[in-house]
Amino acid sequence: MPPKRFPRNPVSLLAVTALLIALCGCTFMLPPPADADPTAVPTPVPTPVPTPVPTPVPTPTPVPYPARSVIGPLEPGMNDGEVPVAQDMLRALGFAAPLTGEYDCRTRNAVRAFQRYAGLAPDGLLSADCCAELTRSYDAARGMAVQREPLPLEGYVVCLDAGHQGRLNSSLEPVSPGSSTMKKKVSGGTRGVVTKLYEYELNLIVALKARDLLADAGAEVVMVRETHDVNISNAERAQLANDVRADIALRIHANGSDDPAKSGMYMLVPAVRGHVTEEMAAASREAAEYVLEAALEETGAKGRGYSVRGDLTGFNWSKVPVCLIEMGYMTNAEEDRLMATGEYQDKLAQGIARGISDYLMARPGS
Ligand SMILES: [Zn+2]
Repeated sequence: MPPKRFPRNPVSLLAVTALLIALCGCTFMLPPPADADPTAVPTPVPTPVPTPVPTPVPTPTPVPYPARSVIGPLEPGMNDGEVPVAQDMLRALGFAAPLTGEYDCRTRNAVRAFQRYAGLAPDGLLSADCCAELTRSYDAARGMAVQREPLPLEGYVVCLDAGHQGRLNSSLEPVSPGSSTMKKKVSGGTRGVVTKLYEYELNLIVALKARDLLADAGAEVVMVRETHDVNISNAERAQLANDVRADIALRIHANGSDDPAKSGMYMLVPAVRGHVTEEMAAASREAAEYVLEAALEETGAKGRGYSVRGDLTGFNWSKVPVCLIEMGYMTNAEEDRLMATGEYQDKLAQGIARGISDYLMARPGS
């Protein structure tokens, strides 16, 4: 099945449609040239272009929401009395905040979505200014409910794990629940042979771009990390995706090899081991196929297929479908240079986001 285009922002679609209508209108209103040759063969009259059906304007109806306000500032990790109020207000406005009462990852994602909607910098923090804007928007919405179309990925939770971190952690943890085989908590990763970019840097750049695309499509995106200064083991990364009951977890990595000629992209998928059941392994493989297909299409990279792995801690501890993309070889000079460019990183993120979206939309019952 050919993959669908990744859904675009409906606001920009509207703007483009409006622009197209305006442009078509102008073309047909142009007067005939004054010096037209009367003997010339008459130009065929252009077939009228059907007018696009305008999108129905939502009818405002009263909302039975109570008066609410938050003053802030509120910060991640807090469970101050204002946090549940802010979560409630965000939900009323249609942003998928949880009702945990704690300023957790999902709350931060909802704040970020609200900030994008309100034209504020999307840092996910409820500063005093952002609280004031939230209160204003909530007050305005109390008078009229906007019956908006739900975004395509609303209700889905996606966990993105930007592989590695600023400093490796060589202490050990079991490779799988109950196993006596121990592996490093976080390995060091590779590095660009030409650009000297660290893998952990590249992984996070692409993960943040993919986060924004998925959040714009309505998904709740839970990030394992958003900075390099963290210390989160591979088992803990899997545990985080389990805790938020992610519909899919994607681990984002780049590769290294002793052979500098080696290039291309591939996916690692879990074997049945540890918490990974047959059903989860099959779902993980399916997700990997969607992601690889879309990412290859966006980037034009060479596809190297799939590798089934039972030796990865980040897989064996996972209770949700999980796969890992190796975006390319940082030890290949050409691919390293390419992956260091913003343009190519955008393509990688677009492929990842579209692949995840296609996977989620194709699931039964979605
Ligand atoms: Zn890696």
